[in-house]
Amino acid sequence: AKNAGRNNSVIYEAGLQRLVNERLEIERGLRVALDEDQFVLYIQPQVDHMNHLTGGEILIRWLHPDKGMIPPFNFIPVAEETGLILRLGYWIIEHTFACIAQWHAEGQSVPGQISINISAWQFAQSDFTDQLHILLDEYRINPKHITLEITETALLSDIGDTKLKLALLRKTGFRISLDDFGTGYSSLAYLKDLPLDELKIDKAFVDEIRPGERQPLIESMISIGRHMNLDVLAEGVETEKQKQQLVQMGCQNFQGYLFSRPMAMSDFPEWLKAHMD
Ligand code: C2E
Ligand code: CA
Ligand code: CA
Ligand code: CA
Repeated sequence: AKNAGRNNSVIYEAGLQRLVNERLEIERGLRVALDEDQFVLYIQPQVDHMNHLTGGEILIRWLHPDKGMIPPFNFIPVAEETGLILRLGYWIIEHTFACIAQWHAEGQSVPGQISINISAWQFAQSDFTDQLHILLDEYRINPKHITLEITETALLSDIGDTKLKLALLRKTGFRISLDDFGTGYSSLAYLKDLPLDELKIDKAFVDEIRPGERQPLIESMISIGRHMNLDVLAEGVETEKQKQQLVQMGCQNFQGYLFSRPMAMSDFPEWLKAHMD
């Protein structure tokens, strides 16, 4: 038994070593990726109950020269732990704005609200709002086109600072969405004091929807949003049944494979043309 224990710990340490090496490799890779622009912006359409487009969420992809497409799940956590998320987050905002500026230059109107995920670290930076202002000026972007998606954990880490920042951002013209609503530990007492525009119901809750079953939890999340006068958007909607139940519960906005998978930003104008009717 003693021997087996030792063997297990050898295996455990080998496994741990491999994990550490993988992280180091991703970290090194991320630095190169930032220097060499290996990231690609994807966008996933958002629709209303009539399936009319209301905008889209920007989702990052890493196009690695050898490994191919790496999903955010495999590198965002490392970027967060190493602080590289600050450079990456800036890259994402700048390239989103550059893309909108490009649409303007081509005489194309912005198709609704463009949502950008803001990580907790990024939001906590004292110069976060200044960075946004600089980029707005540089690319001549009207902030009314932009929604900032911020998770509740990010918002609640320093509630005083959060209130000031959100008020400033909204005064500038940005729309604010509370991302992954319900997955953190937020107290409703705090939430009701925050200047928000949208609640995003996390996919985890949408996954729980069963045809014909009542969903008291989601139902109350939606009604909280509506009582706070917020738009409520459900993400990860995959079936017409889920959508219909969400509509019945009072949800007005949707995002998910039912409507479209995320696509490269560069494919979005073509997709729009095909879906404009
Ligand atoms: P999230 O913000 O909750 O984004 C929604 C995720 O759900 C996306 O995964 C999207 O592709 C996926 N999704 C949407 N509809 C469906 C559906 O109907 N079915 C299924 N199975 N999945 C669906 P993705 O793109 O892999 O992103 C995962 C997470 O990585 C995001 O979760 C977000 O936390 C993070 N992330 C992605 N892009 C960015 C970014 O630009 N900045 C930051 N800070 N984080 C990002
Ligand atoms: Ca999001
Ligand atoms: Ca998120
Ligand atoms: Ca989510």
